[in-house]
Amino acid sequence: MKKIASVCPYCGAGCKLNLVVDRNRIIRAEAADGVTNQGTLCLKGFYGWDFLNDTRLLTPRLTQPMIRYSKGEAFTSVTWEEAIRYTAHRLKGIKEQFGPRAIMTTGSSRGTGNETNYVMQKFARAVLNTNNVDCCARVCHGPSVAGLQETLGNGAMSNSINDIENSKCLLVFGYNCADSHPIVARRVLKAREKGAKIIVCDPRRIETARIADQHLQLKNGSNMALVNAFGYVLLEEELYDKNYVARFAEGLEAYRQIVKDYAPEKVEHLTGIPARDVRQAMRTFAAAPSATVMWGMGVTQFGQAVDVVKGLSSLALLTGNLGRPAVGVGPVRGQNNVQGACDMGVLPNMFPGYQDVTDPAVRQKFADAWEIDVARMDDRVGTRITEVPHLALEGKVKAYYIMGEDPLQTEADLGLVRRGFEALDFVVVQDIFMTKTAEVADVLLPATSWGEHGGVFTCADRGFQRFGKAVEACGSVKRDWEIISLLATEMGYPMHYDSNQQIWDEMRELCPLFYGVTYEKMGEMGHVQWPCPTLDHPGTPHLYKDNKFDTPTGKGQLFAAAWRAPAETPDEDYPLVLCTVREVGHYSCRSMTGNCAALQSLADEPGRVQMNPADADKLGIADGQLVWVRSRRGKVITRASISERINAGAVYMTYQWWIGACNELTQDNLDPVSKTPETKYCAVQLEGIEDQ
Ligand code: SF4
Repeated sequence: MKKIASVCPYCGAGCKLNLVVDRNRIIRAEAADGVTNQGTLCLKGFYGWDFLNDTRLLTPRLTQPMIRYSKGEAFTSVTWEEAIRYTAHRLKGIKEQFGPRAIMTTGSSRGTGNETNYVMQKFARAVLNTNNVDCCARVCHGPSVAGLQETLGNGAMSNSINDIENSKCLLVFGYNCADSHPIVARRVLKAREKGAKIIVCDPRRIETARIADQHLQLKNGSNMALVNAFGYVLLEEELYDKNYVARFAEGLEAYRQIVKDYAPEKVEHLTGIPARDVRQAMRTFAAAPSATVMWGMGVTQFGQAVDVVKGLSSLALLTGNLGRPAVGVGPVRGQNNVQGACDMGVLPNMFPGYQDVTDPAVRQKFADAWEIDVARMDDRVGTRITEVPHLALEGKVKAYYIMGEDPLQTEADLGLVRRGFEALDFVVVQDIFMTKTAEVADVLLPATSWGEHGGVFTCADRGFQRFGKAVEACGSVKRDWEIISLLATEMGYPMHYDSNQQIWDEMRELCPLFYGVTYEKMGEMGHVQWPCPTLDHPGTPHLYKDNKFDTPTGKGQLFAAAWRAPAETPDEDYPLVLCTVREVGHYSCRSMTGNCAALQSLADEPGRVQMNPADADKLGIADGQLVWVRSRRGKVITRASISERINAGAVYMTYQWWIGACNELTQDNLDPVSKTPETKYCAVQLEGIEDQ
């Protein structure tokens, strides 16, 4: 038996673990002493490796390249030579006929690692000559990246996960850490034990609300109104740090002009929260010697998400809670490497290291390094994944090369997404499982999985961590970056890499933010946080030292905006709000956790629709009863789960189940800046189904 050091492939907490391997099979995972987890793991960390054994509980592993030569035909197993030749030929043809921007690509925020994401964006930019490369950050923390880049200069957590417990006040907004990041939730608990005040803003009585000093049970869809009311109280009661704001922030007067209309008493009808509670929350927040603002999808999956992120960062700025330990802004990233995918430039507007694609000097630098003519580099921001269905239906996107993503499960309004896919000429899926999206592909390229290769992930607090290869892969599968390199070479751009480290070092040379993060340093330190600009730099546990912000003026930008209602509000026909949520034992599209026996046994039928007893009574629905949930876009069947912890007027479902996927119901009202869909809010009706 041997033990291989690795990093959990699920959430952005970045927990370290050891995989115990016997005769090329993983037999268990043990918690390791990582910086963020310190010898603990959650359920997914302990039991989430079993999918590597191809359990076929949900869907089989992909083990052989396959091609569907014409629409409607079955897949044919082919050799790698044929798969690469055919795919390269089709992509080349589409590029020549319709131009580079007719092809969309994705990186992956999951187990592929940073090196592969670097190679994928290089393929898009140097070989296809398009900035059409994106990842699932678009449907989760895209608004955090866009909002924080504007207000503070970096689209990431300002401080560290292990620092949360030292904060004296936590403002937890739209973030159910007990289900989405259980090991981060432990830090919240520890902070509480050390005497921190906890303020939770969430429509449901989530786990964290049970230990909170205040639970502000706001109405669904009222985030901006509440954040503005917070700002109003800080200014009106003169609770804000005037000296700090004068020295380190800009935009106070414009901010004041907006929030003056959001006195807590005036917006009670919007937020549903008594004004005295809003005032009390800000008195607590402002009085704390250190405070951290944390948020999750309850902030970012709305049509006004970027504004709310900017408003939350303004609360930190107004109270001087930046630039030192135990304070700051904490958008806790969802997938294990979604921070890394963004770091590596799997974004339509950024090269690796957050370097702007519209900057000619930056384009020249990458063109020189990649030995291509700069005139061939795309100088416009590329397409976002949430725009693909629309652009495909308009005939503007013709081909989609998808690596480790499952849009036909995870994106809003699946009916729309399916119509978009039907309009595409060519779909390539590079994955480990036969996902919903893989089922409709023209070419399947089977890749090695986490556990079968090593690399580097970035966890939610900007920490780079190496993970190792534990077992040899079965079947005819290849490493993701090897597949991409073969395609690039076949398309006339020779691309050859021998190792992860070779790719990593090429990336470092091009990214000042990451230059000092060598493989050796990660090996020694275990967790190195960017910025790390030089070889002797130890990394940066908290950003904005001396309150210097990475904005054009060096000052933090205060921001408020008028509240906008969600796009589709309840009415007589569809009287309830549907909000999508997570469950602790499963992850993302569930292709990995659904194939782990221990996790699968936690729940064996579609995620139930959670509802309040008053709504259930009104509709005559009993706990556990089968129900139809309908929206204007579709319907799904599931069971009711009735609980006082759910607010009246709203129902909640997870999107992970293959039958009854609630994204059949959601709608894609996109935030105008980040293009993130409003999957936290649409109108639905429920109908009980009589027992036969
Ligand atoms: Fe894995 Fe996240 Fe659980 Fe840690 S908290 S073990 S990273 S799923």
